[in-house]
Amino acid sequence: RTVYLNGEYLSETEAKVSIFDRAFLMADGVYEVTSVLGGKLIDFGGHLKRLERSLNELDMKKPAAFDDLLEIHRKLVELNGIDEGLIYLQVTRGAPGDRDFAFPDPETTEPTLVLFTQNKPGLADNPTAKKGIKVISIDDIRWGRRDIKTVQLLYPSMGKMMAKKAGADDAWMVEDGFVTEGTSNNAYIVKDGKIITRNLSTDILHGITRAAVLKFAREAQMIVEERPFTVDEAKDADEAFFTSASAFVMPVVEIDGTAIGGGSVGQVATRLREIYLEESIKAGV
Ligand code: PMP
Repeated sequence: RTVYLNGEYLSETEAKVSIFDRAFLMADGVYEVTSVLGGKLIDFGGHLKRLERSLNELDMKKPAAFDDLLEIHRKLVELNGIDEGLIYLQVTRGAPGDRDFAFPDPETTEPTLVLFTQNKPGLADNPTAKKGIKVISIDDIRWGRRDIKTVQLLYPSMGKMMAKKAGADDAWMVEDGFVTEGTSNNAYIVKDGKIITRNLSTDILHGITRAAVLKFAREAQMIVEERPFTVDEAKDADEAFFTSASAFVMPVVEIDGTAIGGGSVGQVATRLREIYLEESIKAGV
């Protein structure tokens, strides 16, 4: 696989980053994941906009002009022959000469920019979307700026492991009695025809797939309510699903061992998945 590191296209075994890189020592970095369908980048504009916002919130320098980022994405897709898959992009505050809590001087420390592809044939036609997944609920003990897409992913990783141990697929996190989001996705329920998902704030990541799916839902005259919901509401819902750039719209059929909507995949989730795939492939770049 060919990867990108600070201006160079290298083989994955050649690409090396300093041990003083702030992402390695302090999780001082942000990332984006963009999906590739039919060789095209999905929702690319949204991912770049969120990257810019994450960088601004953390006073981090832009690693490259945004036009160049599109070119790098396209070149990696081409070099690695990706038809369906993902592109991971990470920007870190770079590698000053030593470890220090204070941010290094941006005049002298350049950000580290890394991109690599993940080949995932069958991403769109995922059989899991036809049977749905099971989630458990866990406490949300993450920091308070979940709207910034940082590489501090230890607790979400632990959440996935807790889910696996419980015989489930993923975890939905709960704070003050309300679901915030999934470990790596935004959470939704459907009740009496209404799509309910937590409103945007610093409590959750502002999902790019979420924005697109809610827009398509409203365009299709579906009713959307942006507000927090509880695990009990999810248990009592007609359907549940999650969204993310790597899974698109994924039905959820069980929470904490209770079947949702009789335990089968719902119509709203199925329809939204179809609309999302169709529209976003059309708009792919
Ligand atoms: N919430 C969290 C915590 C995530 O990690 C992700 C995926 N990175 C999402 C939501 C979904 O965001 P997107 O649709 O932009 O992939």
